Amino acid sequence: MSIKCPRCNQLLVNGEYADIPLKMCEECDGIILPQPKLVKFLEAFAEDTLSDVDIDMKIPETEIISTPVKCPACNMMMENYGYMGSNDVKIDSCFRCQHLWLDSHDLDVMATLYARANLRQDTERKKREDQNRKEAEIKYEASKNVRKWIKKRKRRRYN
Ligand SMILES: [Zn+2]
Ligand SMILES: [Zn+2]
Repeated sequence: MSIKCPRCNQLLVNGEYADIPLKMCEECDGIILPQPKLVKFLEAFAEDTLSDVDIDMKIPETEIISTPVKCPACNMMMENYGYMGSNDVKIDSCFRCQHLWLDSHDLDVMATLYARANLRQDTERKKREDQNRKEAEIKYEASKNVRKWIKKRKRRRYN
């Protein structure tokens, strides 16, 4: 079945990326993909498109297209909502067939948001792990003299 771009009416081109079937518009660079695959897509896309990611990286400035679109797959009006609570990007989502339409600028913003959130999580996790390790070391140090005492005590009592 041929599906047309909801923005510029060009035929969408079939493709597959990170095992995800998607369709692209070669005119406006928007894509349609199954909603449940979004995270997997962003993971691969961020990896392929962002050169260096840092925790405070700026969200690319873009114009937001918030004109509602009809789902290219099933023709239902799509819902428009912010991604990850951000006002910098609005995703068009079809509740009937579970597809997302992502305009070209959405892709850059989402990749950045995704990569930044991931990095922040990693950094937090590492911090927690370091903290736990330090606490364990302190506890171990604190118990050393008790261990020594237990050993000596054993010797004193049974030898
Ligand atoms: Zn298009
Ligand atoms: Zn649909």
